[in-house]
Amino acid sequence: MKKKQIKNKKELLQILKKVPYEDEDHKKRIICSLIGHSNICDICFGYRSCGRCGETLGDNLCSIDPGRENSVIIGHNCKICRANYKKCSWKDKYLVPNPFSKKIKKEG
Ligand SMILES: [Zn+2]
Ligand SMILES: [Zn+2]
Repeated sequence: MKKKQIKNKKELLQILKKVPYEDEDHKKRIICSLIGHSNICDICFGYRSCGRCGETLGDNLCSIDPGRENSVIIGHNCKICRANYKKCSWKDKYLVPNPFSKKIKKEG
């Protein structure tokens, strides 16, 4: 797939129309490949994964995680996560659950 700077959601949706995808998960992976992974992440057993497609982005146990300081952890709701969320663009938020939703409870 040719890499192109996608400026807004409308452009992304237009490109997606031409891409055959099998299901929602596949669609999310395609979106990540087009606009990059979300800075809104899930942390499970020290592994940080993309809040959209679920791909592992960093390993916090071994501190191999350069993107950690800019990310928002789903269900974390701390000062850093809230500050980082303000920096998130539509690219981070599209098809990603609200990280501060009360329904999601996560430790770590
Ligand atoms: Zn992703
Ligand atoms: Zn946090």
